[in-house]
Amino acid sequence: MTEKDLQPLSYSPAYLDKIKGMRFFDPHVHMTSRTTDDYQAMADAGIVAIIEPSFWLGQPRTGVDTFRDYFSSLIGWERFRSSQFGIKHYCTIGLNSKEANNERLAEAVMEMLPLFIYKEGVVGIGEIGFDDQTAAEEKYYRAQLELAKEAGLPVQIHTPHRDKKKGTQRSMDIAIEHGLDPHMVIVDHNNEETVKEVLDRGFWAAFTIYPFTKMGNERMVAVVKQYGSERIMVNSAADWGISDPLAVPKTAALMHESGIDTNDIHLVTYRNAITAFAQSGQINEADFDTVRDIDQSLKFNGSTVLRGGQQPRVNKNSTIIR
Ligand SMILES: [Zn+2]
Repeated sequence: MTEKDLQPLSYSPAYLDKIKGMRFFDPHVHMTSRTTDDYQAMADAGIVAIIEPSFWLGQPRTGVDTFRDYFSSLIGWERFRSSQFGIKHYCTIGLNSKEANNERLAEAVMEMLPLFIYKEGVVGIGEIGFDDQTAAEEKYYRAQLELAKEAGLPVQIHTPHRDKKKGTQRSMDIAIEHGLDPHMVIVDHNNEETVKEVLDRGFWAAFTIYPFTKMGNERMVAVVKQYGSERIMVNSAADWGISDPLAVPKTAALMHESGIDTNDIHLVTYRNAITAFAQSGQINEADFDTVRDIDQSLKFNGSTVLRGGQQPRVNKNSTIIR
């Protein structure tokens, strides 16, 4: 074992060298839970754009106003913070499955959703679907599919950790029942057990590279070798749990190492996500270049990303933290 083996992969020049010049789009990452260091590392690894789906914050929300502030931050401060590191930020807005079980609150959130889904940079309704597969979850999943249809927006489906196969099938059945075109529906958190049916039925199949619980990227390489690159996309779903916001570029590097064709890597780590979510009419790739002209003196509602006038760049390869 050498010193290089002990370094985190994300700081290894060898890993970044493999994907030099490539651009990545992470279509599922919860940046609200991440730090500014992550934005820096993501930009350095070639991530040019991301989608932040609305999700559960860990602590159950007790009132509709905290949802309002959360949705506002997704289209406001978080988009600004991302832009300060040269990354174009989009989001999907929705009532998450877990909190659909608080029906009093869910009703109030449903009433509020139309105020947010038509805002600039909102590329879909998400992430919605099943967690525990309860009746309340089904009720609000159906209501939000109707909302998506009415707004002409793509849907981003969260599939459950428990009883995943059944939950995934049910999610697709219900989407069809509501008259949604499978091409407008991105089914997330797939695995080897669900991928075939999702693709066969014409849906987009998204994969979350998340340590221990969802997919490892060696398994992801095998999936792409078996199923190809059509309608498949890779994301990190990085959040407040033990997760990795560099999962997309790291998986691209591993695919490269495993001999997967560059064009297939490009499709599953960049292009397919754009094709799917651009159906919202909200994605213009020219914006990815514009956002790279960073001006960190800019403010959002009087606030900057700089704390106490600090210089934000830090050399990640150095062990010294000043
Ligand atoms: Zn998520």
